[in-house]
Amino acid sequence: MQQQQSKSIDTNEALSIIKELDRSLAMHQQWLKDFHRMIICQEQDTFVYMNPDAHLTCEFGRWFGSLPEALLTCLPNIRQLSDPHKEMHDAARKLLNALQLQSASASRQNAYETFVDTSLDFKLAIRHCQSELLQQICTVDHLTGAWNRHTMESRLREEAERVRRGSCSCSLSIVDLDHFKQVNDQYGHPAGDKVLSAVAGFLMKQLRAYDITFRYGGEEFLLCLPDTKLNEAEQFLNRIRENLSAHQIEIAEGRTISVSASFGVTQIGINESISDAIERADHALLCAKAQGRNCVCAWDTNTD
Ligand code: GH3
Ligand code: MG
Ligand code: MG
Repeated sequence: MQQQQSKSIDTNEALSIIKELDRSLAMHQQWLKDFHRMIICQEQDTFVYMNPDAHLTCEFGRWFGSLPEALLTCLPNIRQLSDPHKEMHDAARKLLNALQLQSASASRQNAYETFVDTSLDFKLAIRHCQSELLQQICTVDHLTGAWNRHTMESRLREEAERVRRGSCSCSLSIVDLDHFKQVNDQYGHPAGDKVLSAVAGFLMKQLRAYDITFRYGGEEFLLCLPDTKLNEAEQFLNRIRENLSAHQIEIAEGRTISVSASFGVTQIGINESISDAIERADHALLCAKAQGRNCVCAWDTNTD
C-alpha cells in the first residue's frame, strides 16, 4: 500500500470529473461514429481528421486543454490520458492516408487494426481514471490526504494476519494533537483544518515508505508501523514527535504556528483482534496525555 498523496482531491470535485469523463466518453463515441461514417460513405471532408492538431481541437482535446495545471498535478492519471488520445488521432490520420493513397490491402488492414486498438486503449484509459477517482473517494480522507477509517479496518486486518502467522511484528500508534480545540478557538476552524492537513502531510513525510497513516478521528491519526518492534517504534515516534513540535505550520500568509502531539503506541499481539490492539494504543495515549502531553507512551502486550 503506497503512502497516499498529501494533497487529495475534494469529493465533489472528483465526482464532477467522473461525470466529465462520462461526457468525454460520449463525445468519443460520437467522434468514432462520425469517423466510421466518413470512411464508409467516402465523404470528402477529411480536414478535421487529417489536421495534425486534431487531438487538441476535438471536443475532448478542448476539455482536456482547459483543465487547470493544479488539478492535473494531483491527478496524474488524467494527465496520462493525453498520450492514448493523441495516439488514436495519429492512427486515424494514418488510416485515412492509407485509404486515400489506396495502399496495399495489408497495410490498410494494418492501419485499421492499429486505429481500432488505439481507440479502445483510449476508452480503457478513461474508464481506468474513473475507477481510480472512485477508489480515491472511498478510501482517502479528503481533508488530510491520509487513508480513511474504512480503509484502516481492512488494512489492519491484513497486518494482524501477518502477525498471527508469526512472520513479523507490527506497532500501532494513535497520535492526538495537543490542545487542538484552542487552535480552532484562537485562529478559527479553517485554520484548524489547515493545521490538520499540514500535520498529516508532515507525518507522511517523516514515516518510512512502508508505514501507513490513517485519519482515525477528528484530530487523531493512527500510524501503522509494520516490521517494527515496540521499543523501535517508541524511539522512532519520539523523533517524529520532537520534529513535529519544532515544525512551523503556515495558517495564513506570513503567519505560522506550531503544534505538539501525544502518542500512544502498542504492538498487535499474536491472535489478537485489531480492536483490542487499538484499545490498548488508546490507553497508552491517555497515559501520554496524563503525563503532560507532547510525549510517547508505550503499552506492551505483556504488561496488561
Ligand atoms: P487534548 O490535548 O486533551 O487532546 O485537547 P484537545 O483540545 O485536542 O481535545 P478535545 O477533544 O477537547 O478537542 C478536539 C478538537 O478537535 C475539537 C474539535 O473541534 C477539533 N476537531 C476535530 N475534527 C476537526 C476538523 O476536522 N477540523 C477542525 N478544524 N477541528 C477539528
Ligand atoms: Mg482527540
Ligand atoms: Mg487532542
